[in-house]
Amino acid sequence: MLSWYRDLIKTFGVAGATLLFTNVASRRVIVILRNKFLRAQHECPCCGWQGNRFFDFIEMGYAIPNAECPQCCSHSRHRALFIWLRDVYRIDEKSGTALIFSPERSIATLWKTATGLLPVRLDIQPNRGVDLLADLQALPLKSNVANLIWCHHVLEQVQDLRAAISELHRVLSPENGELIVSVGLNGDGKTREFGFSDKSLSGIRRAFGNDFPEFLTSSGFSVTGLTHELSERQCREYAIYPEKFFLVKKK
Ligand SMILES: [Zn+2]
Repeated sequence: MLSWYRDLIKTFGVAGATLLFTNVASRRVIVILRNKFLRAQHECPCCGWQGNRFFDFIEMGYAIPNAECPQCCSHSRHRALFIWLRDVYRIDEKSGTALIFSPERSIATLWKTATGLLPVRLDIQPNRGVDLLADLQALPLKSNVANLIWCHHVLEQVQDLRAAISELHRVLSPENGELIVSVGLNGDGKTREFGFSDKSLSGIRRAFGNDFPEFLTSSGFSVTGLTHELSERQCREYAIYPEKFFLVKKK
């Protein structure tokens, strides 16, 4: 956590960083004690962890209670997508080349179950065990190479949204290619551009509205909205707060 604290100082200054660090640390101590002494009521489907409560996820501008797995760091959307990939999409039966943007540690084991799939993990930063350093706005890849593209909560971070979507369209196979994508949706009307990377909101540059699918359809994609198909019991047990995601193909 000390390296995280040093990074916080660079972004928010000593006073802001210390306030956030103290808040996170004190909340974590409470959750650790709860998990030590109270009966388990949650489970992480990604790693099998069981306990009374997940860690709260606290940023400078917002907080999500009961969010992060103490063992694999999964959040609600990772746990939901893990179950959907495994049980509904049947990733183990897929084949071809899969481009995985900003690869999530908590889902990593699932890609290994798809023995016919060649996963290529991409990120703009080298700190996620990636196979290829790549900027989504200008990918170093040939056209039409991807049978599957996995891209979650990345498009709100890129500077040039149109360029990023255009690149996704260029590299996706027109034959059977599928892009599975999600973004943080703010629940109301139009997408709001900030014009800068908001460090208090995990560095996002825009808050997508209900018009998000239009950015894809206007770039030559067809879009199908999906749900996680989870029961109330699963949502409660795995601490999942369902959110929309999309299955996207070339028109
Ligand atoms: Zn976990």
